[in-house]
Amino acid sequence: MKVHVLRLDHRIGRDTRITTHVCLTARAFGADKVWLSGEEDTHLMDTVMDIVDRWGGNFHVEYVKNYLSLIKHWQSVGGRIVHLTMYGEQANEIIDEVKECGRDILIIVGGSKVPSKVYKNATWNVSVTNQPHSEVAALAVFQHLLMDGKEFNLDFEDPVFEIVPTLHGKNVNIHDENKHY
Ligand code: SAM
Repeated sequence: MKVHVLRLDHRIGRDTRITTHVCLTARAFGADKVWLSGEEDTHLMDTVMDIVDRWGGNFHVEYVKNYLSLIKHWQSVGGRIVHLTMYGEQANEIIDEVKECGRDILIIVGGSKVPSKVYKNATWNVSVTNQPHSEVAALAVFQHLLMDGKEFNLDFEDPVFEIVPTLHGKNVNIHDENKHY
């Protein structure tokens, strides 16, 4: 099952930090790609890909001008769509159905205001509690449920830096000493 994330309505400056965190969370929890819509932010995309270079894996981030075309295309090739919104069906109620569908999943996270066509086109409108919070928190919890906790054991190919988990201090293996970061 391929997992992509679509981040709606990015605004350069105002959303830079939170959209960067959407990308890093998506990657850390096992998504293959983030589609970025709203304002095209090449600096943000370069920053994320720089982190991917250092920490490994095959994650990508790409700008999409017309996100509705992406949604339509995703559906036309059999993919399913999860739209994260506080108004949706609770994630813990719906997660088995999503896991069992056996299709590629596009997870949509909103910005300030989400158009009704997104709600209408979603296979599932899904909430992570019915309280307002954050796209990053909602994404992390939903991906955690989708992965059944397997994100703790993901292997990110060809990293420069690799953390050795430790209770105290910092232990990092550096695989390419010719690179300077
Ligand atoms: N009114 C919005 C909503 O429908 O969830 C809250 C806007 S919030 C600033 C931006 C994004 O965070 C939302 O579009 C949604 O993707 C996500 N989000 C916030 N709270 C959520 C919740 N309780 N469950 C799922 N997603 C949530």
